[in-house]
Amino acid sequence: MKILVPVKRVVDYNVKIRVKSDGTGVETNGVKMSMNPFDEIAVEEAVRLKEAGKASEIIAVSMGVAACAETIRTALAMGADRGILVETDVELQPLAVAKMLKVLVEKEQPGMVILGKQAIDDDMNATGQMLAALLGWSQGTFASKIVLEDGRAVVTREVDGGLETVALALPTIVTADLRLNEPRYASLPNIMKARKKPIETIKPADLGVDPTPRRTLVSVAEPPKRQAGVKVKSVAELVEKLKTEAKVI
Ligand code: AMP
Repeated sequence: MKILVPVKRVVDYNVKIRVKSDGTGVETNGVKMSMNPFDEIAVEEAVRLKEAGKASEIIAVSMGVAACAETIRTALAMGADRGILVETDVELQPLAVAKMLKVLVEKEQPGMVILGKQAIDDDMNATGQMLAALLGWSQGTFASKIVLEDGRAVVTREVDGGLETVALALPTIVTADLRLNEPRYASLPNIMKARKKPIETIKPADLGVDPTPRRTLVSVAEPPKRQAGVKVKSVAELVEKLKTEAKVI
């Protein structure tokens, strides 16, 4: 069984996000970019399934600017076998990504697609669900455990207030949550080996998809700066301030 893992290049999670001075978006110039953390978890899970003999090949797919090839290389260093880069300078939104993934899925015929539950840059949490809907496949979102047994994927899902376990007919779409696993660091020998693994580069037009955004970003603003706190000398003073200054009681 092949596993397809879409990996998105995003601003590194350690970077303090800065809004562009004209409010048109988030500053990415000169900013460290990395693989979306939930996608690292997805790659790790695919590699573990391969190591357990449950998967035969792992294909990492990234869509976006040419530098997304680096994100694919990271997946290859973690253990993916080959990569596909869908190269475009157009800003990609989940529906366009899902439509292009659908065409790749139809071509590659994986038994499972493991995506991140959401990309930490736009927090959409939509691509996996859209892909499942477009393909008409089963889906297990927010997965914290995946067991392949009897030709099904038994997925434990993180839901509000607990866990839900669903059995999914294959082929299926799974989205990875934080507790699914702890991704490995790629070792130096594996980083070297990854350089020789193939990455095919194609364009959205090769997949017959027009990725033009359907939504326009109107503006991006930073949250208001927090005011400095004050120390009060007594409970009475605190109550007074809450009444007269904060006006919350
Ligand atoms: P989102 O719906 O944008 O929150 O993203 C959910 C997941 O879809 C991500 O964790 C990735 O696995 C996948 N994905 C979204 N955008 C891309 C992209 N441009 N390239 C590859 N995978 C993507």
